[in-house]
Amino acid sequence: MIQLKNGDQIRIMKEAGRITGEALLVARDHVRPGISTYELDRLVREHIEKSGAKPSFLGYGGFPASACISINDEVIHGIPSKKRFLEEGDIVKIDVGAFYKGFHGDSARTIPVGKVSDKALKLIQVTRDSFYAGLAMLQVGNRLGDLGYAIDELVVQNGFSTVKRYIGHGVGQALHESPDVPNYGTPGRGTRLCVGMTLAIEPMVNIGGEAVRELSDGWTVKTADGSLSAHYENSVALTQDGVINLTGIDPDF
Ligand code: MG
Ligand code: MG
Repeated sequence: MIQLKNGDQIRIMKEAGRITGEALLVARDHVRPGISTYELDRLVREHIEKSGAKPSFLGYGGFPASACISINDEVIHGIPSKKRFLEEGDIVKIDVGAFYKGFHGDSARTIPVGKVSDKALKLIQVTRDSFYAGLAMLQVGNRLGDLGYAIDELVVQNGFSTVKRYIGHGVGQALHESPDVPNYGTPGRGTRLCVGMTLAIEPMVNIGGEAVRELSDGWTVKTADGSLSAHYENSVALTQDGVINLTGIDPDF
């Protein structure tokens, strides 16, 4: 069942979203060649706890850290490590959740490490643009198929592929709630969008094919063909007064 949120609940979700977004900004400001993914995770956790919130991911399904940090051909769910260091030319995906006063925020960004290839920059840009193409369809009366189609269409137009195996989701009192929010779809199909819905929209886009595989660590997901992958996620709310981007606190990021 879809848990629609009232105005008071969405006000709290804005706070959870702000803390989540701030934690990502802190992480971004420390991304540089030589930093360990463990250190980035530590900074994320520190910011969330300092803000009076709890890291949503820590212990979720047994996940051992506060942020998922995935490099290059890793798509999502990378585990931070003291032995893993960012290198010049990498792209790093940082996915963060904060739980505050009973509600979660969930957001991810892909960040270039130093100077990266033009292709990698294009991938990051297209992935971000595809999120906004989907967000533009978040209107009362539209359906989830409209949103997913808009995301996938933009990705395909740019010669990349949308990961289908992992998708977005409702977000609120649970980190993952109903409905599923696929990054593909058929216009006019799927759940009808209505006021009070809070969704995590999160396209994952590969330069190569859409196929992915899970590593033996039980978490890390990589592209099957070894091509680069990017991820962009915000938690958003559809309200009477329009859409609120709960975690997107910096419009340029
Ligand atoms: Mg996430
Ligand atoms: Mg999510």
